[in-house]
Amino acid sequence: MYEFAVTPAVTSIRRRGVEIAGVEPEGLGHELELESGDRIIKVNGRMVRDYLDFRFQTAGETELVLEVRKYTGEDWELQIERAEDEDFGINFEQIVPRQCANECLFCFCKGNPADARPSLFVRDEDVRLSFLYGNYTTLTSITEDEMRRIVEQRLTPQYVSVHATDLSVRAYLLGIDEQRADISEKLRRLLDAGIDVHAQVVLCPGINDGDVLRKTIDDLAAEFPRISSVAIVPLGLTRYNTDKRLTAVTPEFCRQTIKEVSAIQRDLRARLGTNFAFLGDEIYLRAGQKVPGRAHYGDYPQIEDGIGMVRSFKNEFDLLLRKLERRGIKHPEEIDGTIVTGTLFAPALQPMIDELNRRFATNLRVEGIENHYFGGDVSVAGLLTGGDFLTARERIQGKFAIIPRTTLKSDEEIMLDGMKLEQLQEALGIRLYPCDFKAFAQFLLN
Ligand code: SF4
Repeated sequence: MYEFAVTPAVTSIRRRGVEIAGVEPEGLGHELELESGDRIIKVNGRMVRDYLDFRFQTAGETELVLEVRKYTGEDWELQIERAEDEDFGINFEQIVPRQCANECLFCFCKGNPADARPSLFVRDEDVRLSFLYGNYTTLTSITEDEMRRIVEQRLTPQYVSVHATDLSVRAYLLGIDEQRADISEKLRRLLDAGIDVHAQVVLCPGINDGDVLRKTIDDLAAEFPRISSVAIVPLGLTRYNTDKRLTAVTPEFCRQTIKEVSAIQRDLRARLGTNFAFLGDEIYLRAGQKVPGRAHYGDYPQIEDGIGMVRSFKNEFDLLLRKLERRGIKHPEEIDGTIVTGTLFAPALQPMIDELNRRFATNLRVEGIENHYFGGDVSVAGLLTGGDFLTARERIQGKFAIIPRTTLKSDEEIMLDGMKLEQLQEALGIRLYPCDFKAFAQFLLN
């Protein structure tokens, strides 16, 4: 296991430089005759590994020497003088994520059906994506090069999956030995260098809950404000992850967790002025309890991890109602359709939509549908598939249906089970609108 665990993260065969994916017609790149497919190899004599390097090495520089390998195979050296804020107008290839070196008990990859889209099996563990998009890493296989890079290029904040500060528990959860699981020195180095860290705990009943969780929160809070928050999210089991070492999260477990963590939060608020440790929305919803109010979340430090999303949605919804009060809905009789979402969010959404219908004479229904594709306790909206929508066809009524935008790939109208939006629309025989909140608001305001 050790060999396997190390290899994917530290081996990477890459072409030199970073490839240009597109050049804007008015930018400096165009003036320099750079083209798609060209690779920038060095900036002022320093190697460029990806677009973050390019950004870092060109920032604030007015005199630059670029070494370029043209797509034709020619090598160019470009000497450039530019105004400090002059943009290159170049888009680069995406960063190819480095792979993780762990065998986590709860890894989402183990919960995928065998025929799931290949991208769902990517075990990314990349400090660059952590900085750019808030992806979590475990730091278990971070190289010296990467450590230095975080510090030198100020790739802050970093999002770190800690899971437990008890070393044996952490090693057990990550499926690696304790030596590799121990990130205390790495974390210390980052914190001492002024890098901010947001931590995450995937809460697994009977493993890292109770006293282990309390210790984890305490240990991390001792590093506040450099470690600025901890997101505690529940283990999610699909019907494919049948590891006997894992116990499913139940409503009772969620209620107990809320009780225990609320007491810790009270203490932290008094000491640090923030709740610091935040429970994922899913824990409140599965406990059948209301999510906390706005003040609980401060500036929503980990909203992308499902911390405060429901509260933030409710606040935006209230603002939308106020806007609609002023502007009105032009043809409320046309707003007659079904909003299809996951079973987790549906009970929270229902009262908001009831209020909308009551005040504006619209006729929207909310349907929370089961996830058959992943099964288990998967109930979030974003993992619903075309097949799931089809099984609920009898419940989709009215002139149209709104489905969560997150069920589609970001760059293509295709769902996790490979069904295209137009296929689903045809099979359901109803107009479909994939919406995030902004699109839903626009839909009502038009
Ligand atoms: S959960 Fe993340 S860190 Fe753990 S094995 Fe899966 S991809 Fe790797």
